Amino acid sequence: MNQSVGDRAVVLGGSIAGTFSARVLSEFYREVIVVDRDQVVSVSRPRRGTPHAGHAHGLHARGCLILEELFPNLLRDLRHAELPVGDLGEQRWYFNARPFRSTRTGLPSVTAQRPVLEGYFRDKVAALPNVTFLERTDVLGFLSTPDARRVTGVPGAFEGSECRKCIRSRRRSARRRHRPRIAYSGLAGGAGIPATGRAADDDRSGLHHTALPTLPGHAQRHAIHQLHHITPVPARAFFGQVDHTTCILSLTGILGDHPPTDPDGFLAFAKTLPVADVYEQIRHAEPLSAPACFRFPASVRRHYERLPRLPERLLVLGDAVCSLNPNYSQGMTVAAMEVMALHRHLSRGTPSTVAFMRAVGRIVDNPWFISTTSDLKYAGMKGPRGLTARSGNAYVTRLHHAAVKDPAVTNALMRVAGLIDRPTALIRPRVLLSAMRRQGSGSGPAR
Ligand SMILES: Cc1cc2nc3c(=O)[nH]c(=O)nc-3n(C[C@H](O)[C@H](O)[C@H](O)COP(=O)(O)OP(=O)(O)OC[C@H]3O[C@@H](n4cnc5c(N)ncnc54)[C@H](O)[C@@H]3O)c2cc1C
Repeated sequence: MNQSVGDRAVVLGGSIAGTFSARVLSEFYREVIVVDRDQVVSVSRPRRGTPHAGHAHGLHARGCLILEELFPNLLRDLRHAELPVGDLGEQRWYFNARPFRSTRTGLPSVTAQRPVLEGYFRDKVAALPNVTFLERTDVLGFLSTPDARRVTGVPGAFEGSECRKCIRSRRRSARRRHRPRIAYSGLAGGAGIPATGRAADDDRSGLHHTALPTLPGHAQRHAIHQLHHITPVPARAFFGQVDHTTCILSLTGILGDHPPTDPDGFLAFAKTLPVADVYEQIRHAEPLSAPACFRFPASVRRHYERLPRLPERLLVLGDAVCSLNPNYSQGMTVAAMEVMALHRHLSRGTPSTVAFMRAVGRIVDNPWFISTTSDLKYAGMKGPRGLTARSGNAYVTRLHHAAVKDPAVTNALMRVAGLIDRPTALIRPRVLLSAMRRQGSGSGPAR
């Protein structure tokens, strides 16, 4: 243990952000309890609490580097497990149907089945002597001091059930009776960390992902990642090898264009992509399951950092703060960046909630800017198109053209996408010059 900050910390949600948090908290608290409504330990398949986990997840460079620090030998272990660990710039990126010039960036990137990746981290954390996972347990809320200035416990966490209807009715009756079956209190000197994801957010029209795990007809030892960002038709494909025999193809449609979930419709949608080889590679592959659809209504950000007062001993992170458009593969990396901030704050003693949430706000600013500004390039996307958004998107489109020829531009774009550099790095003279030179270069389909 690094330095004792308190007796007990309770983490609400044992998914990505919760597991990363528990890893950091274990250095500072005598006891760390991770509560999740699902069974999570040793589970390496999609589960009810994370319905998006059927889609391939890419862990970006910044996330890889941070997590290698928290979980030494991470990349070595993943390679041993035959998960594709590659260089971000050597993956095959297509924008507007044209391929970026491949280049070695030195930035790691991992693509994996999400439950496998999540399971790797959770097994490591569950093995820590002072961490306990309290599974199949639903969290109802918090206990606080009468003036609501400090959280004192996590009440009404009770044994969960597979049936959501039962959970909802039990939650209602528990609230009525104030008689939870298991109640955690006594966070004196402790902390409550909600990492319960985006949970129940407003439903708005947005993204539809349909994923199909496939077993390719021929062995592909190397990861293949293809991204088709097709403007003005907003569709996207992520096709990647996720272990030594399996590929996942995630198709994304937005603004009402939904990739179908029947196998023939799914294949037909893949055929409409302007780069033919995704379709060519999957049409003879053996599907491992029926296509699964995940509806992502909207990116959501909660500005806790703007609140002048927050209850002490309650720190929020992960998708519970900000759920970003999955097209940019940022969520897990942002969670990793937030837990590093948690580490810094805990190193100085009991963290102030307001100070920590401001730090989280600063971390979220950049990925939120990248994702929400990029979304605005689609004509039907709602949102204010100020000068920054319009000129920024026009400039990035030029960079996408420049990256077809210039590996230095691919490198610059990958460093921003990998959350290593801020978007302002894209206006460095070398990159700017290349963008100006390639002005107006063609963007026809690459069939
Ligand atoms: C389709 C899709 C593809 C994505 N692809 C990528 C990608 O390629 N790369 C990337 O970095 N990110 C990606 N993301 C984002 C990433 O999945 C999220 O950022 C990440 O899952 C956030 O983790 P989290 O722990 O904050 O929340 P979640 O993963 O949502 O987990 C929340 C946890 O809290 C538990 N929980 C909720 N409520 C309660 C309660 N009341 N009591 C007890 N437990 C509770 C749930 O069971 C769950 O385990 C993608 C997201 C989607 C939707």
